[in-house]
Amino acid sequence: MERRQFLRQAGATLAVASTAGLAACAGQPTTSPGAAGAHLSPDATGLAPIRASVDRITGVYVCTRPFRAAGPRIEMQKLGSKTVVHNYGHGGSGWSLSWGSGTLALQMAQSTGARELGVIGCGAIGLTTALLAQQAGLSVRIYAKALPPDVFSMRASGLWTPDSRICDAEHAAALADRWEMMTRISYARYQSLLGLPGKPIEWIDGYSLADAPFGSFHGEVADEPEYGEFADRVRDLTPRSVELSPGTHPFPEPYVRRYTTLMFNISSYANLLMSEYLAAGGKIEIREFSHAEELQKLPEHTLVNATGYGARALFNDESVIPVRGQTARLIPQPEVTYGLRMKDISVVPRSDGIMVQVIGDAGNFNNADVTPRRADSEAAVRELADLMTKMRRS
Ligand SMILES: Cc1cc2nc3c(=O)[nH]c(=O)nc-3n(C[C@H](O)[C@H](O)[C@H](O)COP(=O)(O)OP(=O)(O)OC[C@H]3O[C@@H](n4cnc5c(N)ncnc54)[C@H](O)[C@@H]3O)c2cc1C
Repeated sequence: MERRQFLRQAGATLAVASTAGLAACAGQPTTSPGAAGAHLSPDATGLAPIRASVDRITGVYVCTRPFRAAGPRIEMQKLGSKTVVHNYGHGGSGWSLSWGSGTLALQMAQSTGARELGVIGCGAIGLTTALLAQQAGLSVRIYAKALPPDVFSMRASGLWTPDSRICDAEHAAALADRWEMMTRISYARYQSLLGLPGKPIEWIDGYSLADAPFGSFHGEVADEPEYGEFADRVRDLTPRSVELSPGTHPFPEPYVRRYTTLMFNISSYANLLMSEYLAAGGKIEIREFSHAEELQKLPEHTLVNATGYGARALFNDESVIPVRGQTARLIPQPEVTYGLRMKDISVVPRSDGIMVQVIGDAGNFNNADVTPRRADSEAAVRELADLMTKMRRS
């Protein structure tokens, strides 16, 4: 997530946390401190401490968001004897938008009359598109150079962030209707994935912490564009966040807002998607394509291109810009069920590890370097540890 959006989220009457890791409460309006639910409550005082220490970091992960200024490319292209339906370029919103995006891509693929579909890519977008195609009765084969857990999608934060770095502000108006359609389709699908064994999808509460009144910040990530923001269009989907009065929460910061968001436990969720795909007869072929022309050799006449950032090289599409992001994972703590957003870090309480992400830092836009910078993550974990020592425990 980026600082500009965090700060707006922290400050606006209508919260706008919409970037990866922060966007947890995308589009949540707020209620005032005196409103129902804002009084001292067990969930604000009984928060389990996070054992934040650098020796509990189990991994530092970097990936690149496949950002396109115009938004995701979801369109058909005739390529020699093949019809290729592109479905890539989802920025920081790939998990969130996947079902809606896949639905659009599948409609295009079905318009060819195809009964057999090749899907290139096995990340969030390829897997969900493949499952949707199976459920529509198509026979599907995935071709990918890597599978989960070795795909970028597995390194995401795991929050409902449908408009995180999804397009730039200039292209927002053109994308808005399609974005809303994808968002609503995805949201509905996620409701059907709640309450399952392994909790692939959960609702969680979290707390935004600030040392100045919400609304008094005006920050930007210096080297990132102004992004399209669509949260207003889907205000009805997510609960309102609640401002907590001083003394009604355990945090040292004077300004605290509680939000409620969907969280994706990516390990169990991806495992579920893979299992369902294979159980339905889905085939997988490990294969890397160096040039788009190589797709001509595939047996399927209709293909979905879900190669994410890989589309830049494969289809020579320089409109796909890498936006670097790094997360660290701490040893899981099942008793920690709340998220946190502070000025510089975001915490997501996933079942496969407590994610700690540096946010608002510059130098990520158009940066394809996936070398982990462990010192950055360690600093974030220390900041979290400092917060834990200052939290009121009774
Ligand atoms: C730090 C960070 C946090 C994020 N947090 C969130 C979040 O909380 N919520 C959210 O919704 N989104 C989040 N995102 C964004 C999300 O991770 C991406 O939008 C999403 O992963 C894109 O999925 P994809 O399937 O298009 O790409 P990928 O996961 O990269 O999958 C691409 C697939 O194509 C294959 N492939 C690529 N090139 C080739 C080739 N030439 N030949 C064969 N196969 C190929 C790959 O092996 C892989 O299987 C985050 C991103 C980052 C960086």
